[in-house]
Amino acid sequence: MPAADTAAPPFWSPVVAGLQPYVPGEQPRMAGLVKLNTNENPYPPSPRAIAAIEAAARGAHGGLQLYPDPQAQALREAIAARHALSAPQVFVGNGSDEVLAHAFFAFFQHASPQASPPAAGEPLLMPDVTYSFYRVYCGLYGIAAQPQPLDARLRIDVEALAARAAAAPCAGIVLANPNAPTGIGLPLAAIERLLAACPHRVVLVDEAYVDFGGESAVGLVAKYPNLLVVHTLSKSRSLAGLRVGVAFGQRHLVEALERVKDSFNSYPLDRLAQAGAQAAYQDEAYFAQTRRAVMDSREGLTLGLEDLGFEVLPSQANFVFARHPARDAAQLAAALRERAVLVRHFARPERIAQYLRISVGTPAQCDTLLRALAEILA
Ligand SMILES: *Cc1c(COP(=O)(O)O)cnc(C)c1O
Repeated sequence: MPAADTAAPPFWSPVVAGLQPYVPGEQPRMAGLVKLNTNENPYPPSPRAIAAIEAAARGAHGGLQLYPDPQAQALREAIAARHALSAPQVFVGNGSDEVLAHAFFAFFQHASPQASPPAAGEPLLMPDVTYSFYRVYCGLYGIAAQPQPLDARLRIDVEALAARAAAAPCAGIVLANPNAPTGIGLPLAAIERLLAACPHRVVLVDEAYVDFGGESAVGLVAKYPNLLVVHTLSKSRSLAGLRVGVAFGQRHLVEALERVKDSFNSYPLDRLAQAGAQAAYQDEAYFAQTRRAVMDSREGLTLGLEDLGFEVLPSQANFVFARHPARDAAQLAAALRERAVLVRHFARPERIAQYLRISVGTPAQCDTLLRALAEILA
């Protein structure tokens, strides 16, 4: 649906008038809110990350009057070490949203700017229900999106994607694994199937939620020159407020991302972000403890929702996707909001409009949610 650009201010370029920006979940300032709407971690970041940020702010390693390391070398080395890779196979950006944006520009924008009329080029293949920012980047960069419907159980249809990729040229494949907002994960064999079906284009696997029980494709980087894996510190490392995202790929892919980054902003990660992120990667014990706590709460939350009559999709993420067969999802979300419990409801696409996406909170937050739902359903 194109925007009504008749109403657009005359200063706007046609591209801006036609943009359909991503709408993030709300971040209201309300006391006592149980916030289960944006998949943040319910636990604070590692105390070591906080200490490192404080030290960086005090200028223990050079103060804030100095620019940060544009290459974030120490951070990339710490991340590479954790994944048995080397720093040139790691790219970091200001949140994985920025990393994704650079990747779309670097790998999926194949239209010639000289074409007249401008052509959208080969389409980017993606599941029809997935992280909705992918479509926004397609709009921003003029990339045609080709959605592939999920199967009857809301799983990514790997065979259909692979068949499409093999049948005709495409700009690449992007998917979230585990998928958002379903929470359903794919096995590594499925990722390898897609990598093999699309050898001349990049397959981007967004693993924002992989630390909560999914299978990571990072170990396949050495084997596949067309694989780019994207991680975020916003979910499993409790650092949504710090804005750090990561991409893993062979050197030629990372080099492309660096070219885009250095044509846009040479210093996407400030000193505090680099220090905090590095310390977070060096606190494996805290990471293991908090992700275990979230996965344990997920099991309790799932059982509690099922007791209330909800159907809950099998989740490998820090959220569950659930529907009640007899109650309207939008109304449930509104009733929860009146009780100061926020969950996310997507009105579109229609196929998921009766589901609620509920982030896994602490056991106490999950109890509050379940009690509120019991009251609403009674
Ligand atoms: C949360 C999320 C992101 C964005 O993460 P940031 O690093 O906070 O920008 C990217 N992809 C998916 C699938 C997400 O759920």
